[in-house]
Amino acid sequence: MIDPPTFAIVGAGLAGAKAAEALRAEGFEGHVVLLGAEPHRPYERPPLSKAYLQGYAERDTVFVHPPGWYAEHKVDLRLDCTVTAIDRAAHELVTGDGGRLRYDKLLLTTGATPRRLRVPGSGLAGVHYLRNLDDSDRLRSSLRPGARVVIIGGGWIGLETAAVARANGAEVTVLEQAELPLLRVLGPEIARSFADLHTDHGVRLRCGVTVTAIQPGVDPSTAGAVLLRDGTRLAADAIVVGVGVIPNVELARSCGLNIDNGILVDEHLRTSDNDILAAGDVANAYHPRLHRQVRVEHWANALHQPATAAKTMLGYAASYERLPYFFTDQYDLGMEYTGYLDPDGYDQVVVRGDIANREYIAFWLRDGRVLAAMNVNVWHVTEPIKQIIQSGQRLDPTQLARVDLPLAQLAVG
Ligand code: NAP
Repeated sequence: MIDPPTFAIVGAGLAGAKAAEALRAEGFEGHVVLLGAEPHRPYERPPLSKAYLQGYAERDTVFVHPPGWYAEHKVDLRLDCTVTAIDRAAHELVTGDGGRLRYDKLLLTTGATPRRLRVPGSGLAGVHYLRNLDDSDRLRSSLRPGARVVIIGGGWIGLETAAVARANGAEVTVLEQAELPLLRVLGPEIARSFADLHTDHGVRLRCGVTVTAIQPGVDPSTAGAVLLRDGTRLAADAIVVGVGVIPNVELARSCGLNIDNGILVDEHLRTSDNDILAAGDVANAYHPRLHRQVRVEHWANALHQPATAAKTMLGYAASYERLPYFFTDQYDLGMEYTGYLDPDGYDQVVVRGDIANREYIAFWLRDGRVLAAMNVNVWHVTEPIKQIIQSGQRLDPTQLARVDLPLAQLAVG
């Protein structure tokens, strides 16, 4: 009798769990082994810097599947299990305890790790990073009323954490090295509205600053202040660092796969080895609609890419073509962003609605074509926005800005 094939998935986050689910949904009857370094079964990250951090969402709600799901679907979930090497010639994984696991197909969903702040004192207790469930648990108790919270990095982690900390009654300072938070992602026109959102909610926002050291507090093993290049000393009860992430490519690199800003994969999510695929934050995938390699560090990508990866593993023709999408919730602002701005950027921003009242859609255009759009406190518009972007049609900016013209009408234009 021929042994059924083994499909291994390294990385038990959202992407890994969704891949296991997709393999079973596609009818795969071989072994599915899902290996994760953390002690927790796969969970979703968005709540960790939003409702879960704030204490609104119960712990059970963050997990991708209920505890019994893995056994019910014959998914061999191995937690606390670090894969240390991939032996491509033998088609085997090597685990931290020296064990070996043979695979027929392998999917890498190894995710990303927070970039470390490299200044004196950054290793002191009380300097938090926010990536994992345990990080969120640890940080939660520090965001208490009256606590002085200094956040380094005005990106998504920094701003979402600032909103939770303010809602909890903490005194919050956000330090950003650029001239505005989210400047690189949103450009000056719209990044300004996020800066205003936070200052309106009492955040002290300091942009264009450089952190030079973390100083100890009364307890010399614990961080007590952040020092800036201009000499400012900001006393802190808690320090949160959110200065970006680095894709976890070590396993892939050391077994000789092609790496460039993540693991390079084609539109079918195959690496330079036909039997190894990658998905989620770690995958720098060729995007057939955008005609370029794109690595997306957002939840929706980790949610949807695995279905394509599973199909490819099973030998079906499948390519990943969804436009990047992400969302945030900060105070009473909810937004969704759809699309992708390539390095050539945009030459026009059109706003439909009212920025001051935080109810609008911003469109980023180049040569009259919409490349990306962000709806802020405006809902149920993602589909027409996708259609507008995907059609590549040139639109009259004045029409795009008219709130009385339904987007769906412009989309079929
Ligand atoms: P991020 O969104 O890439 O933002 C990092 C920010 O920190 C950037 O504004 C960056 O400025 C700034 N920065 C870098 N080094 C700094 C320094 N030494 N001092 C002060 N500021 C500094 O990364 P993140 O906020 O750490 O989030 C981590 C990952 O999780 C990202 O991939 C993010 O997309 C994802 N995430 C997504 C969501 C969401 O979709 N809602 C929520 C949370 C996290 P420059 O741009 O000038 O480098």
